Amino acid sequence: MAFADLTDPEAVRKAIAEFDERGREAFLDEYGFHPARDYFVVVDGKRYDSKAIAGVAHLYERGVLLTPGEFSGGDSTVATRLEELGFEVSRPANLPDWSVDELMLALDLYLRTRGQIGYGASTTVVTDLSAELRSLRIFPAHVRANPRFRNPSGVALKLHNFSSIDPDHEGQGMGHGGAGDRRVWEGWAFRPEELAQAVALIRARGETDDAPEDTGEEEEYEAPEGRILFREHRRYERDRKLIAKKKAAVLKKTGRLACEVCDFESSEAYDVKGVIDIHHVVPLHKIGESVTTMNDLALVCPTCHRVLHKHRPIITPGELRAKRQSGDS
Ligand SMILES: [Zn+2]
Ligand SMILES: [Zn+2]
Repeated sequence: MAFADLTDPEAVRKAIAEFDERGREAFLDEYGFHPARDYFVVVDGKRYDSKAIAGVAHLYERGVLLTPGEFSGGDSTVATRLEELGFEVSRPANLPDWSVDELMLALDLYLRTRGQIGYGASTTVVTDLSAELRSLRIFPAHVRANPRFRNPSGVALKLHNFSSIDPDHEGQGMGHGGAGDRRVWEGWAFRPEELAQAVALIRARGETDDAPEDTGEEEEYEAPEGRILFREHRRYERDRKLIAKKKAAVLKKTGRLACEVCDFESSEAYDVKGVIDIHHVVPLHKIGESVTTMNDLALVCPTCHRVLHKHRPIITPGELRAKRQSGDS
């Protein structure tokens, strides 16, 4: 890489001084650089386009301007070099990975439109989905406020990823489908009606429910149906009235409050009664469909509850109990 021979911090300081003297526009114009979008050298709170500074510093140090086309490394390589020379460089804020529910919305769109249209950054369905993902409360508002968050080119790329996973897609995909994309494809591509049902629910809830700040719990448990429906699941499980009703019903029937998976009963092991969770067993994409009955709820100890939520594919308490007894969970 040509800017590896940029070794003199003094040359960088000279480029910065020239930038100050000429002003940003004239400086960039003079040397043929585009304005930087994400990477800036920061000196005394002032921001300087990092590539332009590196290119002109090279001129000061080696007598040759490094033009924009001559940088063999990307912005972040340039940034690293400048940092090695002792300068502070601001880098773009990281965008979160696509959540499962976002991928479900994209997959639903893909399945409804594949083979009929191309996916470009200005295609209407692409710009519509971009706008929707930016407004749905899957991530907190400050995350979605980043102009690069789920922008049309990111959405178009995601749709191309699905086409590269799609075995029915003719022609060359881009081959970028990541593990998350594949998991959502495998989980939902073969049951498009259920996907559409889940997506409708995600849309309805995502418009009104506020996204909480990430607590870590959501990351750990991201449900196969994504963040929004997972929050919905938790809402049932935290509903005090439902909990009381379920506990009373079980107590009346069995005389104990034991885990349906492992039979743990807190008052038998400790001097504490009723340490038990309620788990909502209805598949999340059907969650909005009917009134929850006592049979939709299971009593599980906190440990088994965590295992239920971590298990892939999804598993019911009865299935987990069977696995546990056969010793292969
Ligand atoms: Zn248990
Ligand atoms: Zn649960």
